[in-house]
Amino acid sequence: MPLAELEINAADQQQEDARLAALISAGILDTPPEPAYDAITRLAAEYFQADSAAIAFADESRVWMKSCWRQMVRELPRKDSIFDMMLAQDGPVVVSDVTRHPQSDTLIPRLKLLGMASFACAPVHSAEGMILGILIIFHRKSRQNMSPDELLTLQSLAGMVSNQLELRTLRKSFNENRKGPRRAFHAAEIACKGWPSKSDLHQALEQKQFVLYYQPEIELATRRIIGLEALIRWVHPERGLVPPSEFIPPAEESGMILPIGDWVLAEACSQIQKWCVEDISHVSLRVGVNLSARQFSREGLADHVEALLVQAGISSRQLGLEMTESSLIPNIHTALGVLGSLRRLGVSLLMDDFGTGYSSLNNLHSFPFDVLKVDRSFVSRMSEGDQPLQIVRTIVELARVLGMSVVAEGIETIEQYRLLRQMGCRYGQGFLFARPMTVEAVSKLLRLPDRILPDPEAVELACA
Ligand code: C2E
Ligand code: MG
Ligand code: MG
Repeated sequence: MPLAELEINAADQQQEDARLAALISAGILDTPPEPAYDAITRLAAEYFQADSAAIAFADESRVWMKSCWRQMVRELPRKDSIFDMMLAQDGPVVVSDVTRHPQSDTLIPRLKLLGMASFACAPVHSAEGMILGILIIFHRKSRQNMSPDELLTLQSLAGMVSNQLELRTLRKSFNENRKGPRRAFHAAEIACKGWPSKSDLHQALEQKQFVLYYQPEIELATRRIIGLEALIRWVHPERGLVPPSEFIPPAEESGMILPIGDWVLAEACSQIQKWCVEDISHVSLRVGVNLSARQFSREGLADHVEALLVQAGISSRQLGLEMTESSLIPNIHTALGVLGSLRRLGVSLLMDDFGTGYSSLNNLHSFPFDVLKVDRSFVSRMSEGDQPLQIVRTIVELARVLGMSVVAEGIETIEQYRLLRQMGCRYGQGFLFARPMTVEAVSKLLRLPDRILPDPEAVELACA
C-alpha cells in the first residue's frame, strides 16, 4: 500500500478511536428507552410527514437504534450503512430516490427490507463535535429533493438529540456532585464580589427598597398588549437602580430568594388587582412573574400562590409563572409535582429563555407548560443568516406541534419583528416596543385605545 494511503488510514483510525471514546463517555449505547429521544423521532416524522424515523448510534460494528418511530429494526451491521455514508460526508445525506444512487447496490436491499424508497439524515454530534449518531427519516416513495430550509430543520432536530446527550452528562454530574456547576459559579461570584450579603438583602426587603418594573408582551400582528412581565429592581440608596443580575444569584445562594420571591408574587398580584379596578378590560392581561429554582423545592408553593390570588381577589388566569429549564432540572420530581399543582390552579406556566439551556424536548413534553419564551440570544442573531433564523423557526414550529404558544424575547429591530411575524411567531416583547418600566409609565401604555402600541415601522418611517 502506498505511504500516503497508509497515513490517511492511520488518521481515519485515530478519528474513529476518538469517536468511540466519546461514544463510551456519553454512555448511550444499549441503554433503556428514553421518552426524550422518542419525542424527537416523532417530531421529525410529523414535521417531514415521514413514514418512519429513527435515532441511532454506531459503535465499531453496528448501528444501534436508540429510538424508532414506526420501525421495528433494533440493530443493523455498520458495514455499508447509511451512518458510514454520512460519516464519510461529514454532514447530512439526502437521497430522494435510492434506485438512482451510485451506492444503490448496497442501499436498495436494506431499504427494501424496511419498505422505503428515500431518506434524509443528519449527524448527532457530541459536545466536542464528534459524530456519534444519526437522525434519519424515511419515505416509502421517492421524493423531491429537500429544500435548504428543510435540511436546516433536520439538522436542528439532530442538534436537539445532541442536547439530550449533554443533558445526560449534566444530570450525571448533578447526581455525582449535588453542588452543580451553576451553584459553584454563583458561589464563586459571591466570594469575589462579596456584595450583597444576606443581611444586605434582608435589610433591603425590610426597608422596601425593591420595586417591580413591568415590560409589555404584545401580539405581534396587532401590537396589542396581551401581558406584562414583572421584573424586579433594587432601588439602592447609594448604588441607584440595581439590576436583578446583580442580586438574584446571591439571593438564591443565601436563601433570601424565598422571602424576596414571596414579596414579588404578592406585589404583582396586588398590582394586577389595581389595574383591574382602573379598567375592567384589564382582566384579560396576564402578568408573568419569574421564579427561581429554590422556590420549587417548597411543597407549598401552589397553596401559597392560591392564597395570594384569593387575597388579591384576582383570577388564576391573570397570573403567569416564568421559569427556566435549568431551574427545574436539579430537582425534577419535586418540580413536576409543584408544576402540576400550579397548573391545576389555573395559572399559566411559561418556559423562560428557551434554547439557552438544554432545550430538552422531554422536559417540554412532560412539564405542563403553556408558553415557550424564545431566548433573546436567538432573536438577536436572526438576521445574521440562514442557520440562526432556522433555529428560531424550528422552535416556533416545535411549540406549535406541542400545542404551546410562543413569545419571542428581546425584539430590538424592525427586521427581527418582520421575520418573526413571517414565520408565524404570535407574541413578542422587546425594547423595540417597550422597555421594562415603572408602574406609572406602564399604566399609561395600558390606557392606549385597545392597548395597542404605536407601529415601530411607521415611527421609523416618520423619523427617516
Ligand atoms: P428574563 O426573565 O428573561 O427577563 C427578560 C430580561 O430581558 C429582562 O432583563 C429585560 O429587561 C430584558 N429585555 C427585554 N427586552 C429586551 C431587549 O429588547 N433587549 C435586551 N437587550 N434586553 C431585553 P432584567 O430585567 O435585567 O432581568 C434579567 C433576569 O433577572 C430575568 O430574565 C429573570 O431571569 C431575572 N429576574 C427578574 N426579575 C425577577 C424576579 O422577580 N424573580 C426572579 N427569581 N428572577 C427575576
Ligand atoms: Mg422571564
Ligand atoms: Mg427570558
